[in-house]
Amino acid sequence: MKKGKIRIYTDIVFDGGFAPTLGEAQSHYLYNVMKLSAGDDLLCFNNRDGEFLCRIEKISKKETRLQLLEKTRNFERPADIWLLFAPLKKDQTDFVIQKATELGVLRILPVITKFTITDKVKTERFRAQAIEAAEQSRRVDLPEIQEALPLEKLLVSWDKERKLYFMDETGNGRDVVSAFVESKGQKAAVLVGPEGGFEAAELSALRKLSFAEGVSLGRRILRAETAVAAALSCWQALAGDWR
Ligand code: SAH
Repeated sequence: MKKGKIRIYTDIVFDGGFAPTLGEAQSHYLYNVMKLSAGDDLLCFNNRDGEFLCRIEKISKKETRLQLLEKTRNFERPADIWLLFAPLKKDQTDFVIQKATELGVLRILPVITKFTITDKVKTERFRAQAIEAAEQSRRVDLPEIQEALPLEKLLVSWDKERKLYFMDETGNGRDVVSAFVESKGQKAAVLVGPEGGFEAAELSALRKLSFAEGVSLGRRILRAETAVAAALSCWQALAGDWR
């Protein structure tokens, strides 16, 4: 691993006051795993102030004292796209959180649908996955992760200004290009069903909502985690903030 390119999320505040100090978990990673030592540089972001180049003044497995060298990036939020997804098995769910974070999603909302295989959703684990993906993909923010809610509960309190695109595997949805092109500059959300798909009653309820629209990702049936990556990639390319 090339030194100096390490990039970490930390919740410390960079206000130019006290020397920023990292606690035990991160010190263990930097010292024991990445083998950093005093004099090495790293990039830190805190989901608030931007990104900072820091130099290690003192490091042990318990504590790392940093010297702030310069601000390298301002804080920014990505385009306003949310992901609603039905939690899958552990590995697939990890994949969803990682890819959604890399693809610039602003908020992740786990939803419990009729055929969702679990209602024990570990959002703490989601957060750890999102942090790793944000570090790796050079985000300066973290996606917000909401506690899991049943789909119908989410829909009753839905902000009608936010278009909800539900990924419809039945072939009855609008084609993804024409749907998402219209979303440019608008806040939106994409909803992907579980491995078992949506129940017929769920689809008909979704189709009745004024703020929702069914979208087709093509004639092949995708795995739920593939559908998440495909839907978010399409939205970013057609309506989002890819530059
Ligand atoms: N078990 C279902 C497939 C579910 S796929 C069946 O065999 O028919 C899981 C989820 O991925 C779906 O609920 C849908 O949201 C999304 N999805 C998969 N393929 C899709 C497609 N071609 N278009 C739109 N959404 C799709």
